[in-house]
Parts: sequence; C-alpha cells; structure tokens
Amino acid sequence: MTVEGDIPRLGLTSEEFRQKGKEIIDFIADYYDNLNQVQPLSQVKPNFLYDLLPKEAPEEPESFDQVMADFNSKIMPGITHWQSGNFYGYYPANSTYPGILGEMLSAMATGVGFSWINMPSLTELETITLDWVGKLLGLEQGFLSFKPDGTAGEGGGVIQGTASEAIIVAMLAARNKKVQEYIEEHPNHTEEDLVLFKSKLVAYGSDQTHSSGEKASIVIECNFRGVKTDGSKRLTKESLSKAIEEDKAKGLIPFFVVATFGTTATAAIDDFPGIAEVAEKEELWYHVDGAYAAAALVCPEFRPLIDGYQTADSFNFNPHKWLLTNFDVSALYVKKSSYITSALTIHRDYYRNKATSSGLVRDYKDWQIPLGRRFRALKLWMVLRTFGARGLRNHIRRTVGYAKWLESQLKADGRFKVVCPVDFSLLIVQINKQTIADKLGATDIDSEHVHSVFVKANAALHARILEQNTVFITTCDLDGVTSIHIAIGAPLSDEDTMNVLLDTLVSNLELVLADPKVMSA
Ligand SMILES: *Cc1c(COP(=O)(O)O)cnc(C)c1O
Repeated sequence: MTVEGDIPRLGLTSEEFRQKGKEIIDFIADYYDNLNQVQPLSQVKPNFLYDLLPKEAPEEPESFDQVMADFNSKIMPGITHWQSGNFYGYYPANSTYPGILGEMLSAMATGVGFSWINMPSLTELETITLDWVGKLLGLEQGFLSFKPDGTAGEGGGVIQGTASEAIIVAMLAARNKKVQEYIEEHPNHTEEDLVLFKSKLVAYGSDQTHSSGEKASIVIECNFRGVKTDGSKRLTKESLSKAIEEDKAKGLIPFFVVATFGTTATAAIDDFPGIAEVAEKEELWYHVDGAYAAAALVCPEFRPLIDGYQTADSFNFNPHKWLLTNFDVSALYVKKSSYITSALTIHRDYYRNKATSSGLVRDYKDWQIPLGRRFRALKLWMVLRTFGARGLRNHIRRTVGYAKWLESQLKADGRFKVVCPVDFSLLIVQINKQTIADKLGATDIDSEHVHSVFVKANAALHARILEQNTVFITTCDLDGVTSIHIAIGAPLSDEDTMNVLLDTLVSNLELVLADPKVMSA
C-alpha cells in the first residue's frame, strides 16, 4: 500500500472543486465582459516566464488559491486576447460560452475514444454533428455519412485537430490510392520500382496555398509544386495545366491538387471549375481547403462562390476559426472514406472487439494520424444547438456586414485603398498611392520616389497601429508592399469596436502623413 497522506485523489475535494469551479466560471465571465477594454496584444518580453516561475515543480502540494493568484499575476500578462472584439489579426479563432462549456464536459468524460466501443457517444455524436454541419453548408450528399434514407454511404466527416492534419490525411489517402493503382497495373513490380514511383509523385497547390500544403508533402515525402497565381492571387486552370504538362514531360507523376476557398493572405478563391476539370482529366485527388471562408457557406448567398467544388474528393474547413466553436475542431469530409481507412488502418489484437467485427460501427482511429482522440464533437454540438442555424448565419452576416461597412468608410475617406475584393470578412488595406503623391506634391505617381515613400508609409502605418495596441491587426506582403490584413469575425466585435478600428486607421494615417522621417524618404 502506498501512503496517500492528505492529498485528495482528484487533486481537490468535490467541495473545493464546486467552489473553485464556480469562481473560475465567474472569472471567465468577467474576463469576457471586460475584454474590449484591454489592449489586445500581450506586451511581455521573451523568456518573461522563465524569470517568474520556480525552476522545478513543487514537491509539496500547494493551495489552488495560490495557483490561481499566480495565474493572474504571472500567466495572464502573457495572454494575447484573441477573443477581444479589437483583435483582427490572422483569422478569427472563435470562442463562445457553449463551446467553453462543451470543453468542460469533454474534460469530464476524458478518455481516449479511438474505437466506437470505448466511448460510443464520442464517435456517434461526431458522425451526426458533422452531417448536420455538412447540411448547413449545403455540401454535396456524397460528403455525408448518412444517405437520405438513413443508410450509411461511402463518405462522411471526421473531426481533425487542424486543417494541417486534415490535408496530411487527405494526401496520404491520395497517395495510397495512386500506389494501389500502380501495384494493380504492375503486378511484377520490384521494391525499387515502388520507391521510384513514390519519389515521382507531385502534389499541386498555388504560391498562395497555406503552408500546411507544403508541410503535408514533407510529411508524406512527395514533391510539392506551388503554381504561380494570377493577378487576383488565384490558382487557374491554365497555370495548373501548364505546370502538370511540364512535370509530366520530366517523368513526374501528378496525384493531388489543393484548391483554396479563401486563401490565408488575401481570402482569394481559386478557379474551382477549372481545377475540377484538370483534376478529372489528370486523375488527381481533389482537396478543398476552406479553413476560414467555408464557414460562410452556412449562408446560401455565398455558395455560388465555391461552385466547382462538387467533384472534390475531400473538403475541409475549421469551425474553430469563424464558426463559433472553440479550438480545436477542423471538419474533414471525404467522398470515399475507404481511401483513408485503407491507408491508415493497422490491426492489433488489442483493438479487436465485437462492435468493430460487426462492421456496424466506425472506428475513427482509422481516419486520422494519432490513435487517441478527444470528445471534440461535444462542443460543436452545443454550439450548433444553442446558436441554431439562424444564430450561425447571423454571426457570419453580421461580421461580413462590418467588413462591408469598413470598406465603404475607407473608400469614402479616399486616403485608403481596399486592394482585394471583400467577399467575406477580410479586408486588405493600403494607403492610397495618390494620397502619398499629393502629400509629396509629386506629379508622377509612378516615380520611384513616390513608390519608395509609399512602401515606407504603409509599413509605418502598421508599425504605429501595432505600437498603439488599441486594435490588433496583421499584415500580408502584396508585391513588396506591407498591406494591412483586417480579419473581422470575433463574436465580441461590434459597432463600437468597428468605430475604434476606423478611428485607429485614420488617426494613425494622419500621423504617418505628418511624419517627416517617413515622408522625406
Ligand atoms: C488557417 C488556415 C489553415 C491552417 O489551419 P490550422 O487548422 O491551424 O492547421 C489552412 N488553410 C488555410 C486557407 C487557412 O487560412
């Protein structure tokens, strides 16, 4: 027998847990209530925490109150407030109360639900909620798990941790399919033939494809080609076909293409109908990455934008970005799940069970890279039910409305330029070059001098806004110009924060235009 001393088995007594738990709920509610009043970006310096915390874990138990006090004084300063209504960087990472409560219940039932048998609700709720989401998005029937008559189809959805994992899974399935086809066509192949075949495989995306496309190709050890995009940052049929012809002439073997619905830098939409045609002709696995923007498909008015995705083999988006569900929930849909499961199923006697053998259940361990998985469907289910489809659509339309409002304000001001179409809730903004030319009294707007001041002024505008830390925005580089990337979509953004954002842009622009260090470059 071990000596337990006075430490409760679950760390706290049930009574303490009730009390501390309620205190933490209050703490969270207070945090969200006051979030729009704090500076969004943490101001700590690198290694700040190393200096503040002990070098070793405590030997003796400490009181939870002491731990919370340290959380407040030491950890909180290094928290960046992604949930602030003034946070417009990267893309949104929505958090909501139902999502948080779903996380708590998921923690309650902590387990490792890799097979249906070891937590049936974990698996079944995931299948059902992903069909709900698929229907809310108006996805092709082939991506759903259940047919209208209630029988199981060949496709379905699975929750991955992130879009990055989803594309690795899709690419693995694609490679497995291609390799199986090769093996069937070449029954007398040698081991070396197979290695050579695999080394020739090429996955395609564009120069705007999220880094996860290239990373997936590193993981599965294939070639990745980021095809040059057109003037609107789109991957087109023509450039994709041309790249494929070049590669085939070199003896390479195209097998995969990712089309992006809403690129990370500018929310550009690839040429879906064109890519669909090429994918069919070249027998490529066609993957759709709609990580951020596909959330908008809950509103039917956005669906024409993605026309051409219907023949895709896999489709992925992140409810954890713009669809009100706490990180991490990335929804991956496939038309033929057997391509994934035949690539990722490993048999061991310790996984054997009656439910699996019956063929009536799905074991999600065979749909993903890790074995273990969290009960992530719970928070998604709670979000879907408490917001309803109407609540989800309101969230999308409200935040897109803010983006359109800001666009019209900036256009009316005239000193800014919104440089990419505002199809969703992202604005890419630069200072109007004419404004710089006028300020310099230059007659030739295309002169090198005007251009170099223009470049410097845009960078200075972002630096000032960052320094001021009233709102948080990020940038993207457009042809050498630091462009402001404003991604709206936090539930706490409202008319007030939008006005703060507009004022921040305008007042800092005026400071830049009055700054001799910038203007006399
Ligand atoms: C954000 C983003 C990703 C990566 O998302 P993770 O879930 O963090 O891996 C992938 N693709 C696009 C287009 C994105 O905007």
